Amino acid sequence: MRSKNPNSDPIAADPIAAAKRKSVAARSVGIGNRCKVCGETRPNALIARSEPMICHECRRRSEGRSIYDQHHVAGRANHDCSIPVPVNDHRVLSGEQCKWPKATRENRDHSPLLAMAGCISGFFDTIVYLLKKLLLWIPEFLEKLDTCLTSLYGPKWWTRREFVELTGWGS
Ligand SMILES: [Zn+2]
Repeated sequence: MRSKNPNSDPIAADPIAAAKRKSVAARSVGIGNRCKVCGETRPNALIARSEPMICHECRRRSEGRSIYDQHHVAGRANHDCSIPVPVNDHRVLSGEQCKWPKATRENRDHSPLLAMAGCISGFFDTIVYLLKKLLLWIPEFLEKLDTCLTSLYGPKWWTRREFVELTGWGS
């Protein structure tokens, strides 16, 4: 049921419709803008025309509200499975659902085939989200650590005795 409170967050009531409206807003946010508090850069996560620029998560925090939303993975019309995600990620995931065919997204007649399509697309989007969230930070960390170890111990640092004893890589 939709809240009549004009100050309530529309994404909580209808995340896809809100994301569609926000796609227009995202264009007005512009590329290269970032949240002045946390550095968030994804356009869907930024609040258009906020001054200074701020993201939805930082606004929720400043208001003492939860930063988590329930994301309907396959779309509300296709499956009731939902997972808690931070609001900025919810904005981005809902933006991905807006790229699905409208008939699948809305599934007005409750077609089981369109529901299956929604489940597959939602699973795919969520796996990609988790891959980015859980794995994408690691390569940069490893590259920086390699640079650090090379500057400390020289090239081929992994062949030093202490590392061989630790890892067994040189044995
Ligand atoms: Zn922020």
